[in-house]
Amino acid sequence: MEDLPRIKVEYKDKKNSSGKIVNGVICLSISSRLLPHRQEEHINKLTDKLVNKMNWAQRYDFDGQESPVKNDSDLLYLAETINKSYYKVFLENATFHEQKSSWGTCSLKTKQIYISTRLIGAPMELLWYVVTHELCHLAEPSHNSCFWELVSKACPNYVECRNKLKAFGMQ
Ligand SMILES: [Zn+2]
Repeated sequence: MEDLPRIKVEYKDKKNSSGKIVNGVICLSISSRLLPHRQEEHINKLTDKLVNKMNWAQRYDFDGQESPVKNDSDLLYLAETINKSYYKVFLENATFHEQKSSWGTCSLKTKQIYISTRLIGAPMELLWYVVTHELCHLAEPSHNSCFWELVSKACPNYVECRNKLKAFGMQ
């Protein structure tokens, strides 16, 4: 037997329809201004999209994989370890930073890397990948083939890591 996702539909007097996942339930907010057959189209389309998202998020089980990297000094130690072994770029500092739209950023000017606070205690594999990614940007700013070749030195399974990161972000 396959469990179907639970769906909650609300009709609102607004132009657009939208949907999100709240505690495993698909919550749809459908425009009441549309004709019934158009409303049904919106429900089907949004449900498909969110079911895909849920399936993707459940591809990996991150339970019990919490890493010991929980503060800035742990993070700097990790970054220096990767850097010493694989890159030897000039790195001034690595810190956790509140940022919602990206997992990591870096400053070429100050040679610092910033990792999203959402990754505090995240599985080591994910932290390793994001820190590696930002370290490589200190040597190669753009996402070209040289960049990915550099990334693969410390992180040969970076493609899988990127997928896992995507799933981690959806959980
Ligand atoms: Zn990048």
